[in-house]
Amino acid sequence: MEGMFRFADDLGPIKIVHIHDPATGLKAVVAIDNVACGPAIGGVRMAVDVSAEEAFRLARAMTFKNSAAGLPHGGGKSVIFGDPRMDIGQKERIVRAFARAIRDLGEYIPGPDMGTDERCMGWIKDEIGRAAGLPPEIGGIPLDEIGATGFGLAVAVEVAARFCDLKLAGARVAVQGYGSVGRHAARFLAQKGAILVAASDTKATVHDPNGLDLAALDALKSGGRSLDGYPGGRKLDRDAVIGVECDIWIPAARPDVIRAENVSRLKARLIAQGANIPITPDAERTLHERGVLSIPDFIANAGGVICAATEYRGGTQSDAFRVIEEKIRANTETVLKEARSAGTPPRTAAVALAERRVRAAMALRRR
Ligand code: NAD
Repeated sequence: MEGMFRFADDLGPIKIVHIHDPATGLKAVVAIDNVACGPAIGGVRMAVDVSAEEAFRLARAMTFKNSAAGLPHGGGKSVIFGDPRMDIGQKERIVRAFARAIRDLGEYIPGPDMGTDERCMGWIKDEIGRAAGLPPEIGGIPLDEIGATGFGLAVAVEVAARFCDLKLAGARVAVQGYGSVGRHAARFLAQKGAILVAASDTKATVHDPNGLDLAALDALKSGGRSLDGYPGGRKLDRDAVIGVECDIWIPAARPDVIRAENVSRLKARLIAQGANIPITPDAERTLHERGVLSIPDFIANAGGVICAATEYRGGTQSDAFRVIEEKIRANTETVLKEARSAGTPPRTAAVALAERRVRAAMALRRR
């Protein structure tokens, strides 16, 4: 009994639901953390090695991300046990069974995450009438295609640059993980005058201090090729992007890529965290002590969920860009101001901001 409540604290989770449907083989866990700000919005992850603990930790991260972004949504997440590359017919049966099983969990709105996509959200919407991150044919805004998260990152960088006396015109940018988030961040920063000097993927880093050609990089990635096929620049190993001379460094690949043993290689003055938890807490402290400004993940990369929440309200693509700009600009400003005046790392100020908003919303609920 006690084990079942091992994640419980004064914020949540309010529900952890285990689902088993013997007819389809569906096994899933839904974690609804806190809904004081509104119904929880959070992705459905499909993988073979997921767990209730992972669902809860991701749900808590969504509570903070959504409240920090000032969205009328709490945090939730669900996991489906299974190989996302399973036969598509079987995947549809499993996802539809999952949808029917969460029909009455009205305080949870599912969205796409690792292993699920907009088509899966279309099936869920068809079953129960609620999901975010839908295909465009049924009112969805294709957030990866339009670069919602990369756009938000560029806005956060623009605000943060003022806090470290950096001019965006001519600033050198390095991006780890030239995917949906990384390439659009590079594009929007280039529109503000910055120069992409290095980019990496799972195979290689490509480096050119005079600037890389974004169209050539995009052509490689959309053709399913690696950056090591880039015609020009220097080809380096995958992790060389960490030590490249630059002003702005953007992790947009995997968690925990910057740790105690490699943090000293980073040369940038400003870091905008595109990936979730790309820097371990001790490495983040080291950066703060060295005077490197690092914008925390759930402030800088909230563009995707803001876009999904805008879509859920029937908003358009241009509404989404406007809301992302407004919210990320205001939040980055608040967090960096508070961190500066308190002398804390930005993450401390960001968590405090998120918690403050959740607790203020909780105080409005009937007790
Ligand atoms: P993606 O799969 O489109 O792109 C990831 C890129 O990183 C790929 O180019 C891949 O080759 C590269 N990569 C993977 N491992 C790498 C490594 N070890 N070193 C260098 N490059 C590596 O994924 P994405 O949607 O761009 O997401 C990137 C990260 O951002 C993930 O951590 C994701 O959770 C997070 N995130 C995404 C969104 C979104 O809107 N897509 C929103 C918030 C956070």
